[in-house]
Amino acid sequence: MPRVEPLNTVSIVIPVFNEQESLTALIGRTSAACGQLRQRYEIILVDDGSSDNSADILSAAAERPDSHIIAVLLNRNYGQHSAIMAGFLQATGDLVITLDADLQNPPEEIPRLVSVAEEGYDVVGSVRANRQDSWFRKTASHMINKLIQRSTGKAMGDYGCMLRAYRRQVVEAMLHCHERSTFIPILANSFARRTTEINVSHAEREFGDSKYSFLKLINLMYDLITCLTTTPLRLLSLVGSVIAVSGFTLSVILIAMRLILGPQWAANGVFTLFAVLFTFIGAQFVGMGLLGEYIGRIYNDVRARPRYFVQKVIGRQQSSHTQENE
Ligand code: UDP
Ligand code: MG
Repeated sequence: MPRVEPLNTVSIVIPVFNEQESLTALIGRTSAACGQLRQRYEIILVDDGSSDNSADILSAAAERPDSHIIAVLLNRNYGQHSAIMAGFLQATGDLVITLDADLQNPPEEIPRLVSVAEEGYDVVGSVRANRQDSWFRKTASHMINKLIQRSTGKAMGDYGCMLRAYRRQVVEAMLHCHERSTFIPILANSFARRTTEINVSHAEREFGDSKYSFLKLINLMYDLITCLTTTPLRLLSLVGSVIAVSGFTLSVILIAMRLILGPQWAANGVFTLFAVLFTFIGAQFVGMGLLGEYIGRIYNDVRARPRYFVQKVIGRQQSSHTQENE
């Protein structure tokens, strides 16, 4: 196993969207939790275009002397994951931790995340032990988690929980991804070598409601799926091939039966029509699937993710790159 890099600084990144009621408690509790760390720390709060007083509260907190708080104000609402990305760009820590502003993720867990990350993990995820959300959300999450586990092979129990820690190089790699819609926990996993998960408690939302409406949740689900894979596009050609092949087989059988048993049997051509129809429908799907394959490739090229990600180069001394860093 490669040598574990020490963690000297920690950045906390918190997206904030209309959370004025919880901000004071959030800042207090997060600062207290960070105060227990050995590492130097900064707390980056990103205001995602709130329409309440959140931005003012954040600015005031950041302007206080000796404050560890950095406020990043976005001009409008871009969504949780974009806001976190904006925070990542400002973060300087060796370890970057994200959490929600609504205090559903207890900030008191931060020191535990840091100490687990210090064991050498690139990503430390968390599983909500006693998730306090609606039945609908829990079931949907559960199904999506299963799907992701199956298609990525990465055993991560809970992608929805945003209390997570990422090492510097994973954050850098994510910043090199310029796609508009991202799902950070999945993106991070694709750049991580060692990942682990810890159990954390999950509180009920104290103030206000979830900032995710039903439509926003559906959008988030699509972000997640498209971030993960282009397989759904590929499914089109698979379905098409099955239909086309069965249609073709059917027509061969029908023609043979028609020749053997005569036109009466084939209901004067109705069956033949069906067979022809199936073959054409199948061919159409295959065509769409082919388009899908091209679109999938265009999509991959357009979002221009790094083709690979070098975690570390060992054994090359005095390269210009390392000299620059020193
Ligand atoms: N959030 C955000 N922009 C949005 C929606 C949400 O920055 O457009 C933030 C929100 O302030 C919170 C976190 O993302 O800190 C998670 O949102 P929420 O608690 O509403 O989601 P849930 O817990 O219901 O999944
Ligand atoms: Mg929440």
